[in-house]
Amino acid sequence: MSALSGLMNYDLKNAVSANRLVGLWRLMTGFRWRYFGATLSLGVAATAKTATYLLLRYFVDTYFGEGEPVVALHMIALGFVLLACIEGGFTFMSGRWAAQTAEGVTRRLRNYLFDHIQHLSFHYHSQTTTGELIQRVTSDVDAVRRFFADQAIGFGRVVLLFVVNFIVLLNLNTRLAWISIVAIPVVVITSFFFFRRIMKAYESYQEQDAILSTTLQENLSGVRVVKAFARQQYEIEKFRRDNQEKFERGKYLMLQHSFFWPVSDIICGLQILVGYFAGAMMAINGEITVGTFLAYMGVVGWIIFPMRNLGRLIVQISTGMVSYNRIMEIIREDREPLDDGDCCPGGEPKGELVFENVGFEYEPGNKVLENISFECKPGQVVALLGSTGSGKTTLVNLLPRFYDYTEGRILLDGSELNRYPRRYLRKHIGIVEQEPFLFSRTIRENISYGVSHEVTDEEIENAARAAAIHDVILSFPDGYKTLVGEKGVTLSGGQKQRVAIARTLLKNPRILILDDSTSSVDTETEAEIREALQNLMKDRTTFIIAHRIQSIMDADLILVMDKGRIVQCGKHDELVNQEGIYRQIFDIQTRIEVELEKEIASVS
Ligand code: ADP
Repeated sequence: MSALSGLMNYDLKNAVSANRLVGLWRLMTGFRWRYFGATLSLGVAATAKTATYLLLRYFVDTYFGEGEPVVALHMIALGFVLLACIEGGFTFMSGRWAAQTAEGVTRRLRNYLFDHIQHLSFHYHSQTTTGELIQRVTSDVDAVRRFFADQAIGFGRVVLLFVVNFIVLLNLNTRLAWISIVAIPVVVITSFFFFRRIMKAYESYQEQDAILSTTLQENLSGVRVVKAFARQQYEIEKFRRDNQEKFERGKYLMLQHSFFWPVSDIICGLQILVGYFAGAMMAINGEITVGTFLAYMGVVGWIIFPMRNLGRLIVQISTGMVSYNRIMEIIREDREPLDDGDCCPGGEPKGELVFENVGFEYEPGNKVLENISFECKPGQVVALLGSTGSGKTTLVNLLPRFYDYTEGRILLDGSELNRYPRRYLRKHIGIVEQEPFLFSRTIRENISYGVSHEVTDEEIENAARAAAIHDVILSFPDGYKTLVGEKGVTLSGGQKQRVAIARTLLKNPRILILDDSTSSVDTETEAEIREALQNLMKDRTTFIIAHRIQSIMDADLILVMDKGRIVQCGKHDELVNQEGIYRQIFDIQTRIEVELEKEIASVS
């Protein structure tokens, strides 16, 4: 058991290599002996098969020819049966060990990939599409499995069959043996020619396959948007275009295969014909016995047909190699270190934050935040207001170190933020997003998601009560065991928000990041969410991205942002009395509200 878990813990980063075959060999670490056993068993099976032909030769030459039988007939029959059993048994063992290797290697690969993807940075995920990642973890890993299960072992089999049978051929008749393999170099050269072409074609096919997966995945996740904008036709056409492109690339790939196979078949067929003809002539001229000729006919087939397969294998191996590369592109990416900082306070942070001339750029030379300076005391509320793209999200994303600032410094309780391990920060910072994501699991599991220890029902219910969602949950037939999402209940936006608030309450972080979403819900829900938020914000340093001035009037500090800079800062009363963006937004929002109220009054 421990040996197996050792195998499973092998760091696949070691399998990264510029040479794909070397890399695939390294992927086999821990399974090589089993694979070697599989190949060896194939060798034994091949030898047994060849021995059958030699026994046939002995039988024909002694019982039908002039020779004196040394072995009795029933012994020969027993020999045939024994050889068939050996062949069957070892072929079975070989298949079993090869399958164990292939499945073992790919199980480890899949687990590692999943683990690795969990640890890649925000930056990586924002640049890679989900469809692409899914395709690599499924279809490409499967191509690697086929490489080990069929192709690599098949390659070993061909080589072994060639060695064993060629030795026998040499013993049967040297001249005939050499005549029988003249076409092999041609097969090998043709295979390599097609190998390169097919490798390129497969690479481009897989790329398109990933694009199609992404289109499908995005369409399914964004199905509401598609319907809301009635863009079905556009989406259908986009999918058709991508699918057509995949079809074209697949056709080209198959075309290469279909050019190659008849070519190799013709060469091998001609080779067999030449061999049979030469052998028959030699038998007629008395240079070899009839038994030798019969044995030759059997043995030569076991050289030529595997050789024909060799071509196919070389060509198929190219697909495994392409997939290996695609997988390694993910594994090559560095993981985001979670425990890298040297500042590790034992307990929770107090939550005092100081920004000093902080700047940040996603791409070099393209500043998204500039000269951000402010400070807040533990438990204070900082509100961020500004147009879309002004840098509010980027600023709060610096706190859990989703990204590291590139200029200035941020101090948390007096120590620089990037000296804190990411794990510590993420443990003590809670985030409630504008559109929180809930897993397709039970409500209980969703609420307890952020805590690693066991939590009691009472704790969960208290969190839900504070988030004003307890009564709603109880109104479902399965209560806290209700499944969320496709197979369960569909929660409204406001309900999801409150489940997310309960989740964060249970996590009990010292610092909070809220994306205020009350703008998108009705007044009653807004009141409930606001109450839940008040409970959540109590005694925590809170950063709130605000969309409405009404929700931040009580904030200790309001930062008005524009194009990555703070253009105004202060409390509501100060800002509203200054010329500037804040007052403009305030005026507009107040006017809209007054007009709305008038409208409502006139309707009722
Ligand atoms: P806000 O939250 O105020 O709407 P953001 O912080 O999301 O603004 O964006 C600020 C700027 O940074 C925008 O110009 C946006 O295009 C850019 N940006 C946001 N995320 C990324 C990213 N992952 N890579 C590159 N640029 C980004």
